[in-house]
Amino acid sequence: MDLGSTWQLILQRIQIDISAQTFETWFSQTKLLEIKDGVAKIACKNTFIVQTLETRYYNLIQNTLADIHGEKLNLIFLSLPDMIITSSVKSSAKSSLQAKAQSTLISTHEENENLEEIRELAIKRSNLNPKYSFDNYIVGSSNRLAHAAATAVAEKPAAAYNPLFFYGGVGLGKTHLIQAIGHFVLSVNPKTKILYTSLETMLNEFLSAIQERKTNEFKNKYRQLDILIVDDIQFISGKDALQEEFFNTFNVLYQSNKQIIIASDRPPSEISRLEDRIRSRFEGGMIADINAPEYETKVAILTRKLEEKKASLPSAVIGVIAENVESNVRELEGALSKILTYYSISDTPLSLDDIEKILKRDKKNQKKEIKPRDIIKKVSQSFSVSEEELLGQIRTKSIATARQVAMYLMKKELGITLMQIASYLKRQDHTTIIHGIDKIESEIAKNREFKDQIIEIRKSLGE
Ligand code: ADP
Ligand code: MG
Repeated sequence: MDLGSTWQLILQRIQIDISAQTFETWFSQTKLLEIKDGVAKIACKNTFIVQTLETRYYNLIQNTLADIHGEKLNLIFLSLPDMIITSSVKSSAKSSLQAKAQSTLISTHEENENLEEIRELAIKRSNLNPKYSFDNYIVGSSNRLAHAAATAVAEKPAAAYNPLFFYGGVGLGKTHLIQAIGHFVLSVNPKTKILYTSLETMLNEFLSAIQERKTNEFKNKYRQLDILIVDDIQFISGKDALQEEFFNTFNVLYQSNKQIIIASDRPPSEISRLEDRIRSRFEGGMIADINAPEYETKVAILTRKLEEKKASLPSAVIGVIAENVESNVRELEGALSKILTYYSISDTPLSLDDIEKILKRDKKNQKKEIKPRDIIKKVSQSFSVSEEELLGQIRTKSIATARQVAMYLMKKELGITLMQIASYLKRQDHTTIIHGIDKIESEIAKNREFKDQIIEIRKSLGE
């Protein structure tokens, strides 16, 4: 038997063991390259598929291969994106599809349409935005782990990681990713009861449920779900009653083996005024961070967005945009639209310099980049303590307050982690920082003069 037919046979058998969606995702773009010296080499379309097959399907492939080949082989997976590897598989997929079609000759078309309708309804009911799927989510080193965790959970809800907790800065693709999980699950099984919601929406519902004495309805709504997806959970900070309710709902879902998916702008350890028992629930599952995309990923995202818009730009221009927009994907999209507009309205093509200028001007108009040093300096000046004192161990009231203000401003202005703040301010651990920030927040809330002082410092930072 030649390699092509062997692989086709193997895929047909594997297809029986896993869902159609899983098969399509991981196996449809693979090819058996050679069998030699007890080793089988398998080509895959990308490294992500390589990793998945290696970590999750190694045994399945090895055993199936052994059945057919008669000998247990070691497997090596290679990422060979350029190779045309669809032919053998597609034909096998097609032939089994054709077989199915023949056996059910009647009204497949209608059934498919119904299925589409059911899916669309399911998406609406789940409150998912059709825009956010895995298909248009670009994977790079900044989000690889998060994406892998997301696909694992999408394929086997409540079996892989539960809860699944994503965190990362604004505009980095958290909402997109958690919704993609929902879409994937619905595409496999439109009957799954999924709800995507934000913590804020949940809070509003909760408050009106209390007012209207309908807390039971609120409870039921969330507790009958198969998958609960909560976005921007950080806003739960300090909402004690909701925390109580959330904790109970979490337990009901978790104990009945339902999936919980959460997104946050910071890790559980850094959500202040959060009950420990909830924090430890969050930490009991999988926590995956999403970082700012690096150059290659930015280029890939821009290229993809252009395809979606059915537009094009010279690759040098794409490169300039990727270089000049640093932090997040939302800004990247904004810059792209802007440059496209310039392109469409100007008669002569823009030079790369022009483009760089436009993007730089945008950046300047935004805020000046603030550094930890600036904060330490301005806070010391404002509170008349020296920088050494601020970074030292003395705890007189004025020094301690200045220190806590620096913690607070670093969190607000720099959006860095508590660990990083602790290290900039030479503190032992991040609980000191949480405490400090809380202290300043409550002081700002009750002391007008203090609040004005903070506003002044913030202003001076932007100058
Ligand atoms: P967050 O929830 O982290 O603030 P979003 O999920 O809202 O970020 O993402 C902001 C925008 O960037 C959305 O339009 C989203 O589709 C897009 N985006 C983010 N990450 C990616 C990615 N890896 N691939 C494609 N688009 C992305
Ligand atoms: Mg979001």
